[in-house]
Amino acid sequence: MNSKYEAVIGLEVHAQLLTETKIFCGCSTKFGVPPNTNVCPVCLGHPGVLPVMNEKVVEYTVLMGLATDCAINERSIFARKNYFYPDLPKGYQTSQYEEPICEHGKISIEFKDGSRKEIGITRIHMEEDAGKSIHDQGTDTKIDANRCGTPLMEIVSEPDLRTAEEAYLYLTKLKQIVTYLGVCDGNMEEGSLRCDANVSVRLKGEEKFGTKTEVKNMNSFRNVERAIESEIERQIEIIEDGGKIIQQTLLWDADSNMIKPMRSKEEAHDYRYFPDPDLMPIIVDSKWRVRIASTMPELPENRRNRFIEKYSLPKYDAEILTSSRELADYYENVLTVTDDYKSASNWVMTDVLKVVNDEKIPVNQFPISPENLGKLIKLINEKTISGKIAKDIFPEMLKTNKVPNEIVKEKNLVQISDTGEIEIAIDKILAANPKQIEEFLSGKDKVIGFFVGQIMKEMKGKANPQIVNELLKSKLDKLR
Ligand code: ADP
Ligand code: ZN
Ligand code: MG
Repeated sequence: MNSKYEAVIGLEVHAQLLTETKIFCGCSTKFGVPPNTNVCPVCLGHPGVLPVMNEKVVEYTVLMGLATDCAINERSIFARKNYFYPDLPKGYQTSQYEEPICEHGKISIEFKDGSRKEIGITRIHMEEDAGKSIHDQGTDTKIDANRCGTPLMEIVSEPDLRTAEEAYLYLTKLKQIVTYLGVCDGNMEEGSLRCDANVSVRLKGEEKFGTKTEVKNMNSFRNVERAIESEIERQIEIIEDGGKIIQQTLLWDADSNMIKPMRSKEEAHDYRYFPDPDLMPIIVDSKWRVRIASTMPELPENRRNRFIEKYSLPKYDAEILTSSRELADYYENVLTVTDDYKSASNWVMTDVLKVVNDEKIPVNQFPISPENLGKLIKLINEKTISGKIAKDIFPEMLKTNKVPNEIVKEKNLVQISDTGEIEIAIDKILAANPKQIEEFLSGKDKVIGFFVGQIMKEMKGKANPQIVNELLKSKLDKLR
């Protein structure tokens, strides 16, 4: 980026709420059912119907507001946002405009070097989703109204972000919070988290904001980052060439990694907002607010700090383990069986996460139960098996779902601590490698590792490594 310039970015994020039913009717929010089956006169906007507010939508949005230090407005109202579009059978979207339910919050982002920045939250409001137009089935456009009335919360940030990286960190944090709260599954690829980026640039030191554009249609965190980067570049180029930025909406095209203008006709909005006469004001009195607050789970940062203190974990470990609520839960469930916090952390961070990432499965579908992983760690710590054998048992557990103790018994993997048996193996290896003994005698201590490896191999990995090391050392010392 041209260093004369600075970008200004504000994000508008729509999060689909994990309620069973829609925002103003009893229709199911279930995804993937045949088109137009989760519909009723209310969400189709038939004349004369009356919406009924879904309490859960209020509770989830307030919970999000509390988690981001927002002020919760005791009174908020719904408004009608009028526009015509085929997937909006009502002809208006019921949303909140002038009096949203949450305002003036913040989300704190953390950079790789540990420094922090607070990003202001202008508002969080509730609204309904529209349906879907299907263009790729035959020559006609088809409409699926299942999504009409699906509850959303919109989280609008202050124009506090300055780089694409900050936007990425903000989104990551936001996703972490909604998933910890359990109010949204946070899946951007599937559209349950959608982000519009408002971008402008200005000369550094300038106080006034430049003209902004709005980039839509990014379906992954990385694409948001890329889209913002390329939009910043595009704007700087125009200004450097003496041109002016036009306020417009742009679409990110993930295939070409390019930004394309949306037809400008769709832009001239006049939504003619007015308070919805069919819906009562939403009153969240202090009693209700306190009740919602009492359902607040431990938030990611608190959990991370607790992991550092309670389990004496390095910050790095705690950060990874608390990156999602499922993973943190998995880790703590391992600890119901073993109190070797650091070993448990190592196993989860490396062995468990490797499979989860390679297979692209959610943590709660990881085949080995946390209790069984705990048992495996216990077997090592009780010296029943060596760490090396444990690494062989792990894939077996993945495949068979068996308790590790069972596998150890079946395959006769119990660690050998019998010094007599180990000594025989050591003598055999020493006798077979006179060259390495000479090297050792000439001062090359490194060959000890070679001997240990050979002895372990000879004993099929079952020898107690500590005893091997001790016996080997004393034998070698005697040779000096
Ligand atoms: P609009 O009326 O066009 O919807 P808003 O003031 O409601 O604009 O802001 C929408 C989003 O755009 C917010 O996230 C806000 O932080 C961001 N925003 C506002 N002005 C700018 C700007 N000049 N540059 C970048 N982002 C901006
Ligand atoms: Zn309905
Ligand atoms: Mg706006």
